[in-house]
Amino acid sequence: MGHKQSRTTECVSTEQQQQFKLFEYACPKCKSKRPIQYFHKDDKFLPQAPRVVCGECNTSVTVEPFKTVEYGCPSCKKWQKARIPAKPMPLNMYNVSVVSCNCGFKGQVAVGRLMDVTCSQCWQKRRELCDVWSEDNEEHRTYCSTCQDYKRSFVHVPKKKGEAVRADMEYMCENCFRVRPIHAEELLRSDGLACCSLCQWVGYPEVHAQGHCERQKRRKEEARRHAVEASRQSRPSRDSGASSSRMKRPGKVRPEPEPMRVVPG
Ligand SMILES: [Zn+2]
Ligand SMILES: [Zn+2]
Ligand SMILES: [Zn+2]
Ligand SMILES: [Zn+2]
Ligand SMILES: [Zn+2]
Repeated sequence: MGHKQSRTTECVSTEQQQQFKLFEYACPKCKSKRPIQYFHKDDKFLPQAPRVVCGECNTSVTVEPFKTVEYGCPSCKKWQKARIPAKPMPLNMYNVSVVSCNCGFKGQVAVGRLMDVTCSQCWQKRRELCDVWSEDNEEHRTYCSTCQDYKRSFVHVPKKKGEAVRADMEYMCENCFRVRPIHAEELLRSDGLACCSLCQWVGYPEVHAQGHCERQKRRKEEARRHAVEASRQSRPSRDSGASSSRMKRPGKVRPEPEPMRVVPG
């Protein structure tokens, strides 16, 4: 089974689910930069005229969303940022763009998202331009120049300087079956050998990007809940109190996207 996980495919059983990618807009009133949902169907963005109520200044504004991308400038050899305006075009067209760098270079380059990529074979970490729609904690199959082969690898958003280094991987202990956090650096030093601090098991576990086990568990719960709801459908009322309180969990902190009306045409 493939390991590319993204939020947009997490609950495909919900019928009215809209697929979207996060873009940004600059509020014309208060100038703040805010996240916004930009919708797509299959692999193409839909024509849409986004009008939002700015979450910062509460004004209703028509906005021009853009995607911030990164690229390696072929002239000054630095990582640079660029903005691609949102357009009803295929998603994969966001991987190349004409840019003008502040060093004077102007031309077409590959753009994407700059990520830390860790090979699951040799545990070497490198900073690499990934697909523009890559998200934190994904598993990709990419070429590793050390192994000289395509390997399963872990993709993370680069940590900002001074940010605490938290464990970026996890594995299920094969002895006590509890999820344990582990650092890529640790695995690099030990050639993939892990030691469970809870039960002292030592071995070579199957390592995943952090959050993987929780997502698996949630998916199973989700499937079970859908099954229960389907079997309850004939009853006039249903008590959802227990299940809704169980669903409360401290979510990952991420910017709240503005809700948006889609105006066709
Ligand atoms: Zn997996
Ligand atoms: Zn505003
Ligand atoms: Zn440049
Ligand atoms: Zn490798
Ligand atoms: Zn253990």
